[in-house]
Amino acid sequence: MTRVERLAALLEEPLLVAGPPYVLGGQANVRYLTGLQSSNAAVLVEPDGAATLYTDFRYANRAHTLEDFEVVETARGLIPAVGELLAGRRIGFEEQHLPHALYRTLVDAGVDAVPVSGLVESLRAVKDDEEIARMRRGAALSDEVFAALAQERFSERSERELAWWIERSFRERGAEGVSFEAVVGAGATAASPHAVPGDAPIEPGVLVVVDAGCLLDGYCSDCTRTFAVGEISERLQELYALCLEAQLAGLDAVAPGVPGRAADAASRAIIEGRDLGWAYGHGMGHGVGLQIHEAPTLRPDSTDVLEAGNVVSVEPGIYIPDESVGVRIEDLVLVTDDGRERLTQFTKELVTVA
Ligand code: ZN
Ligand code: ZN
Repeated sequence: MTRVERLAALLEEPLLVAGPPYVLGGQANVRYLTGLQSSNAAVLVEPDGAATLYTDFRYANRAHTLEDFEVVETARGLIPAVGELLAGRRIGFEEQHLPHALYRTLVDAGVDAVPVSGLVESLRAVKDDEEIARMRRGAALSDEVFAALAQERFSERSERELAWWIERSFRERGAEGVSFEAVVGAGATAASPHAVPGDAPIEPGVLVVVDAGCLLDGYCSDCTRTFAVGEISERLQELYALCLEAQLAGLDAVAPGVPGRAADAASRAIIEGRDLGWAYGHGMGHGVGLQIHEAPTLRPDSTDVLEAGNVVSVEPGIYIPDESVGVRIEDLVLVTDDGRERLTQFTKELVTVA
């Protein structure tokens, strides 16, 4: 079955999947269903599997090369044009992706617009063979960059300089871009999970959290390693070992049929066992695909259950601002029929850099 056919099987009424400007989740859904990469396109999928693709002049040529879609070229104002074409019909729209002003445009045009949520995302969560192949290549590229980074000098260079080195390395090795701005957090900077790289030279004796990913063939990679700069204290070595133990426990828990919250709990129990549960303030992981954060989630409040074909991150962390330390270790993992396969394979032994 095609992706459109799988979506159609879930529908009671036609669904408008819209990716107007700035609506990245909607654009990813349109790309997933049609293969068209566009900042201004929408696709109407009917319950019988018929699909109409709407886009403007800039994307029309490429749209016409797609099979299985009736293509309608619209004005640049995509949603007003679609509203006029669909006036009088009852149409589902993705409430998480259509801004309120555009929803009003549909309603004012006479569309009976019904909110729908998460259908395309639920399909995207289970990767097909081609998607898995792309994500394997992205993870392998990430391994190359982390291996090269491990040969670089960290001390006396700034977090920002190293972040740029990483982003440049991804591009030089063939990535289309980065899946998010590389995070390099040394010492106190790393004590915040979403560290912002700064200008100050990195001092020896600290842990440096590096979280980075590339975009390859449309798909994101995501990997974190924590490096030691020169000799580090026994305390830092212990925290690293604790984080690694939690990460391995989290990895072991990933399998089809396991609730996201149970996988999270497996890693959390290790850190809580050392009374550092408070220092692990985020979820264990998230789905990755066309977007860096997508379904399913692995965290204490998750209602998702893992399925074969999910690609998720496993990334426990420990953040202690009073000690100016953060540590996080993250792998990208494919859920398989009988367990899991790690896609990112760069070593998790503590790597000491100069
Ligand atoms: Zn990450
Ligand atoms: Zn992540």
